[in-house]
Amino acid sequence: MACLFCKIIAGEIPASKVYEDERMIAFTDINPQAPMHVLVVPRKHLATLNDLTAAEDGLVGAMVRTAAAIAQNNGYDGPGYRTVFNCNAQAGQTVFHIHLHVLGGRSFGWPPG
Ligand code: 5GP
Ligand code: ZN
Repeated sequence: MACLFCKIIAGEIPASKVYEDERMIAFTDINPQAPMHVLVVPRKHLATLNDLTAAEDGLVGAMVRTAAAIAQNNGYDGPGYRTVFNCNAQAGQTVFHIHLHVLGGRSFGWPPG
């Protein structure tokens, strides 16, 4: 098993978990880009968004709702927060196991860099 996030899910690499259930885990990013920077990661290995099928519609919906709940728990639902899926190299994806970034605690520019 070469995938870094599969190793975190398996408990082989430690991570600072903020949420987990039967379908996903969420943990703080090792190189945070904002005061809150959490990654919501499905337990199922899917390399990129391009690998999603209709079978994952419920999973992805639950990931987005988890992201919103984490932002709310940190008090960022009112001020605002940023959610990002990077897909493949030009978007900056570096870990090829899909993950939803949840960032809060500062202002974010638009368009993104
Ligand atoms: P990507 O660039 O693929 O969208 O995001 C990958 C994220 O994973 C990056 O923000 C990076 O800091 C984070 N990351 C990489 N390795 C580790 C790790 O071992 N532990 C944690 N918690 N985050 C990691
Ligand atoms: Zn994986």
